[in-house]
Amino acid sequence: MAQLILEKGKERSVLRRHPWIFVTSVKELDGRARAGDTVDVMDHRGKLLGKAAWSPESQIRARMWTFDGEETIDDAFFKRRIAAAVARRQTLPVLKGQQGLRLIHAESDGLPGLIADQYGDTVVVQLTSAGTDKWRKAIVGALVKATGCARIFDRSDSDVRKLEGLEPVTGWLHGDAPMEDILIEENGVVMKVDIIGGHKTGFYLDQRDNRHLLGQLAAGKRVLNCFCYTGGFSLQALAGGATEVISVDSSQPALDTATANLALNPNLDTSRAQWVCANVFDELRRLKEAGEQFDIIVLDPPKFAPSARHAETASRAYKDIAINGFKLLAPGGMLMTYSCSGGIGLELFQQITAGAALDAGKEARIVQRLQGAADHPVALAFPEGEYLKGLLVQAE
Ligand code: SAH
Repeated sequence: MAQLILEKGKERSVLRRHPWIFVTSVKELDGRARAGDTVDVMDHRGKLLGKAAWSPESQIRARMWTFDGEETIDDAFFKRRIAAAVARRQTLPVLKGQQGLRLIHAESDGLPGLIADQYGDTVVVQLTSAGTDKWRKAIVGALVKATGCARIFDRSDSDVRKLEGLEPVTGWLHGDAPMEDILIEENGVVMKVDIIGGHKTGFYLDQRDNRHLLGQLAAGKRVLNCFCYTGGFSLQALAGGATEVISVDSSQPALDTATANLALNPNLDTSRAQWVCANVFDELRRLKEAGEQFDIIVLDPPKFAPSARHAETASRAYKDIAINGFKLLAPGGMLMTYSCSGGIGLELFQQITAGAALDAGKEARIVQRLQGAADHPVALAFPEGEYLKGLLVQAE
């Protein structure tokens, strides 16, 4: 096995159990390794620190599989790690009985580059690193064993694969396409999940608890849901008794699924829902000019800052929608605002939101901090795992 020798001092982050080894930390590769091969990781004195997957094309040149130099990376390794991640979720009461569940949350579950989401008896995987790409077969076998799922679909078409020099791949890895639509029930609301054409693995499971919270706040309220995708927040608001829900997204296919989702829930009053295909940046201004007001506004935009490099432009975009959101709030109204950008930390996001309130001329306070659901844990040694942050802010 080839040996990755770290620059002097660069062992510190590995000793703190951070899983990424950047290209600048690598002194040399002693021996030959192809993309995804397992390499021994040594400090500059030759002490073995663990094993990693080699990613020759990426700035993250290697990802740690284990911090135990004696552990072998083989099929049994993936069986152990995947079974443990699935078992951890079964110990958390909030996740009991969820039909849509993230089973594996990559680095934070000790499996860098691996996402696995379960929708009923279908599992969708995303392999975003050379290491996971190489161990695809072992991963599939381990997932079948740990879950007993009927089928597994590969949605490895995310852009981050390019950074690893990997081509986009999709297709069935186990079982056949289901005969019917994939439906899940989330807190009493039925949602269709388009695993083949939808975003990510088909659904934003990370917002489950926050959608539920909106439902609890929505009784008697007029709600504006910006960046609604397939209507997750909108339907929870309707189920919670909102008097009117206006939902905005720039994707017509997403809105088509959203209306189909509403029809799947005959207990919800379709006359209270309006779907608007528009750019949120423009639509907020239009609503303001039309003199509209809302009791609750959800802002759940796409990732404006994939990395810290994009933080400045992204900050302006987050601030723009928050300013107009604040301006559209009725007295005592609430803004539920999110960032899923790795490049925007919690503190910065709070600053942006505070600046937006100031510019909008509103006095407002945080009544709750919001984060991803419990099936999206954040390993303590891996703060980068905390990508989703949100604030529930009440204005005067
Ligand atoms: N809140 C959703 C997930 C939002 S994902 C849920 O709980 O499921 C972000 C959405 O923003 C996507 O559906 C995308 O189509 C939409 N989008 C991206 N840029 C947009 C823009 N400028 N205006 C309107 N919608 C946009």
